[in-house]
Amino acid sequence: MLSSKLPNLGTTIFTIMSKMAQDEGAINLSQGFPGFGADPVLLELVAKYTKENYNQYAPMSGIPALQEVLASKTHLCQGYLPDMESEVTIVSGATEAIFCAITAVVQEGDEVIVLEPAYDSYDPAITLNKGISVYVPLNVGDFSVDWQKVKDAITSNTKAIIVNTPHNPSGFVWSASDVNQLAELIQDREIYVISDEVYEHITFDEKKHISIGSHPELRAKTFVCGSFGKTFHVTGWKIGYCIAPKDLSKEFRKVHQYVTFSTVTPIQFALAEYLKVPDRYLSIPDFYQKKRDFFAKGLAETKLGFIPSTGSFFQLASYGHLTDISDWELAERMTRKLKVACIPISVFYSDKKDDKIIRFCFAKEEKELELALERLRKLESIL
Ligand code: PMP
Ligand code: GLN
Repeated sequence: MLSSKLPNLGTTIFTIMSKMAQDEGAINLSQGFPGFGADPVLLELVAKYTKENYNQYAPMSGIPALQEVLASKTHLCQGYLPDMESEVTIVSGATEAIFCAITAVVQEGDEVIVLEPAYDSYDPAITLNKGISVYVPLNVGDFSVDWQKVKDAITSNTKAIIVNTPHNPSGFVWSASDVNQLAELIQDREIYVISDEVYEHITFDEKKHISIGSHPELRAKTFVCGSFGKTFHVTGWKIGYCIAPKDLSKEFRKVHQYVTFSTVTPIQFALAEYLKVPDRYLSIPDFYQKKRDFFAKGLAETKLGFIPSTGSFFQLASYGHLTDISDWELAERMTRKLKVACIPISVFYSDKKDDKIIRFCFAKEEKELELALERLRKLESIL
């Protein structure tokens, strides 16, 4: 029998819950994906480039026009200009970027600090590279970073730390002080940062996303991983990027060129043209703020507890004051009986710690959110 390299892994929670939602005819606020279409202008551009036969392999590190416009966007939003040719790589989604960055950095026995609850793709990538995930819990509540705990977790074997801001599942957004504390902690150490910034354009209440790459010292050791799928409501396109200094990008590309080689050509051309208008991404926070506000207002009329999300398109809600059933049990009951699917956040913990918190995705049309909220007001009927 084949000996598994990932013996403890099953199907991802996102697949499980989306399937359950579909089978049960429930409103799917579980897996994170927008319930509305992309800008028709972007769709037209994709149609144009496919029809004009931009359909053969793209260059391994991305088409220059997209590398260039992404470098300019980084300059505009984060105040530094990466070298488009040697520091910007276009990949097939942030999942690929994270996998390639981890593979480029982690050798057998290396420790990688993972702040948890954590997105589920990090640990398998670390494990496949024979690294060791060292988990550091975030502060339950707002899910801010406990810097003393991070400091205590660093050893002579620490090779990397994975950062995720804005954070999935909590929506916590790092402040300048967080970034500075990280810089101080790993100063003079060969510790690399794999920074998952897929929700870079989804922040609320005047909070601004600070890329780890914008810090002059951290930039030299950081792989910034992003996703166009998240920013432009096209998660199924699986296109993202990695920005890292030249020496790191060189190693990153060695992996990328044998994982996928290159990324879907017509969509690269379409995005290159679309990104020339900064308002197309600068307007995203306002767009999502309305959804966050709408969902938070409705959630306040339910019995669930919550702190309004400050970033990402997720909202956490606590229910421990209502019942002591597990978060899995609640998510399942909600999907089957209340017809609203959510994610139990114990799945984001290595030890499946159950804080009695569930996650909702509010990247949906108001009509759908309204219907879900109406059902959530009846939550007690299923407890
Ligand atoms: N990181 C986080 C935190 C995510 O929520 C997601 C979800 N899509 C990804 C990475 C993966 O992004 P992509 O779909 O571009 O691979
Ligand atoms: N990132 C999405 C989430 O957290 C899901 C992506 C996926 O299904 N792999 O829900």
